Amino acid sequence: MLEAFCESAGLWRVPLPTPTLPPATMTNHYFVGERQAVLVDPSAPAQSSHDKLAALLADTQNHGIAVQALFLTHHHRDHSGAAADLRARFGLPVWAHARTAELLPDLAIDRRIEDQDIVAENADGSPWRAVHTPGHAPGHLVLWHARTSVIVAGDMVAGEGTILVDPSDGNMGDYLASLEAMAHLQPHTLAPAHGQVLHEALAVLTHYRLHRLAREKKVLDALPRTWTDADVLLPAAYGDVSRMAWPIALRSMQSHLMHLAELGHAERKGAQWRRLN
Ligand SMILES: [Zn+2]
Repeated sequence: MLEAFCESAGLWRVPLPTPTLPPATMTNHYFVGERQAVLVDPSAPAQSSHDKLAALLADTQNHGIAVQALFLTHHHRDHSGAAADLRARFGLPVWAHARTAELLPDLAIDRRIEDQDIVAENADGSPWRAVHTPGHAPGHLVLWHARTSVIVAGDMVAGEGTILVDPSDGNMGDYLASLEAMAHLQPHTLAPAHGQVLHEALAVLTHYRLHRLAREKKVLDALPRTWTDADVLLPAAYGDVSRMAWPIALRSMQSHLMHLAELGHAERKGAQWRRLN
């Protein structure tokens, strides 16, 4: 049954219903690797989803696949919500970045994964390496398979919906730098946590970066030199976005304003902002 989910060598995608950011309704649970493998982003809450994963896990043995851990790309619930339950049910350890562990104090993290750690291996011995890509979340990791030029991308990009860089736990400057770092790997394929696998990887990464930079310029252009409440900027900076999405847009805009402040273009006083140069 596992073959039905195969995307490329050593990569299987199993979308399961998870409470996530609309319009997405699923989180892709990936089996990554062969000789050594991990199950990425255990998050689906339903017992029926756990039963499906249990059946697939049993099937991995028929394929000579050795799943050795549950791997978290980051701490958000739609990536980690079922980790405790599945850790208990499958007897698999949980692996994540140290910053993810910090943000999930109630979850036992058995191994702290660092940038460039090998976390899985295909049958030919080619490694899947973790790459630290902070920005959407401080402990965000992607998995890079150089042999097939595939990145398991977590929430760095989305095949459905958008990626929110939330001011509470995200950092726009880091996110932009991480998109660039991923592009430097020259991937062909991005396997995101939500939606379909994306095959024009470089074009997607470039589009995401340019889209954010264009939005940031709109925010800066809208920002006056007098102290202003952030929400006043929304019509000018996000006028092309449906009003229903404005609450999310406001959070995204705050991340842009914080980045503009880091760059010396904006200044903050409480809930108000002004342009500096
Ligand atoms: Zn997330």
